Amino acid sequence: MSFPDVMEKLVSLSKRRGFVFQSSEIYGGLGSVWDYGPLGIELKRNLQERWWHAMVRSRDDIEGLDSAILMHPRVWEASGHVGGFVDPLVDCKFCQGRFRADKLQDAQCPRKPSKKPGEHSECQLTEPRQFNLMFQTYMGPVQDEASIVYFRPETAQGSYVNFKNVRESSRKKIPFGIAQIGKSFRNEISPGNFVFRMREFEQMEMQYFVAPGGPPAAAAFEDWLPRRKAWYEAYGVTPARLRLREHAPDELAHYAKKAIDIEYRFPFGWKELEGIHNRGDFDLSRHAAASGQNLEYFDPATEEHFTPWVVETAAGADRAAFTFLIDSYREEQVKGETRVSLALHPDLAPYKVAVLPLLKKRPEIVALCHQIKDDLKRDVMAVYDDTAAIGKLYRRQDEIGTPWCVTVDVDSLEDGAVTIRERDSMTQERVGVDQVKRVILDRLTAARP
Ligand code: ATP
Repeated sequence: MSFPDVMEKLVSLSKRRGFVFQSSEIYGGLGSVWDYGPLGIELKRNLQERWWHAMVRSRDDIEGLDSAILMHPRVWEASGHVGGFVDPLVDCKFCQGRFRADKLQDAQCPRKPSKKPGEHSECQLTEPRQFNLMFQTYMGPVQDEASIVYFRPETAQGSYVNFKNVRESSRKKIPFGIAQIGKSFRNEISPGNFVFRMREFEQMEMQYFVAPGGPPAAAAFEDWLPRRKAWYEAYGVTPARLRLREHAPDELAHYAKKAIDIEYRFPFGWKELEGIHNRGDFDLSRHAAASGQNLEYFDPATEEHFTPWVVETAAGADRAAFTFLIDSYREEQVKGETRVSLALHPDLAPYKVAVLPLLKKRPEIVALCHQIKDDLKRDVMAVYDDTAAIGKLYRRQDEIGTPWCVTVDVDSLEDGAVTIRERDSMTQERVGVDQVKRVILDRLTAARP
């Protein structure tokens, strides 16, 4: 199996097993908008919970925030998004295709044989024109210029405009951060590659406010960059498939002093997974000027007033979920059969445990299964399944990444013990029924980074 094959297999597995569905599928789907099924939402929630733990709950210097998707339209003028959140768009007058002028190398002309836009002799690409990526709508009953509001294209601005609220209410001293998880919207010109580039997606962003002047931001940058890369590795991403890529000066966003992407080697090439940005004092200065509010920080130690600089860690929850799925996909030959498994970190796996009966015809076995499963469910995500023979039940759980299966057999009724099977090694261990939950919780704790 070559790495690019994984894409096709994962897209099919995602639909078949309930990770990801196309939005509004029964109406033919909506371009690059996706829904998370029962297992997908568990995976995404788990990774968001681990991010929140790493970025907020385990830290003394970062506070959480959940700012609204809709914000005052002047936020987006001050941030530069109304004027500058644009991609260069080219149309093909021959095939009506629309492409990002700066990503033609990654795009495909819809006509056969498959070529890049501009490579067929009939291609007629227009000059690039700037296309703003923000979705807009109207607030209130009158639909005019004055009532335009935007669906936020990033969560970061909510953290900047709440800088003063968060600092004053939490009495934080600099350096400190504000972290958010939430939906963002971008009217991407050339979306695609499954959930890699979506028009509605979820971000996990943290803004770290430091003293101005350069060195404090440089130090924060040097601290966050390896920390964020290590986070992906701690949850199982293959280190050799991660790399750092610094933005060249002509590639830097208008606000950025320095930007390094953590990239993953997706089946379609090295692409951004998360960006670490030194944004200087651009954001707070712009919002202070536009709102007329004083957003400076008073440092009691030096008795100075200053506008903090910001180091941002900007990740995507969907892109991370996709990465964990791709990276954990395994195929191997076991007893002449192909075993598919997702070697997901136990913290990320949708189900932690499946409780399975060896003989579903014995009501006592089924009853014991339910008793074990119900007890587990008080603490972890567990499921019961008896819709196939045991070998098939194991394969089904392997395929969705369940790290442990508990099997109840005839002997269990006599000796009060059950078998715990581990997904990756397929080794089995006999454990007393009253010990099952402790063993699972211990293993979960032991696996936690
Ligand atoms: P790209 O270059 O891929 O368009 P970006 O540099 O515009 O990304 P940022 O604005 O830095 O991305 O957003 C931070 C993170 O949000 C990205 O690293 C990515 O994980 C996620 N993200 C951004 N755009 C999308 C999208 N359209 N679909 C899914 N995730 C996204």
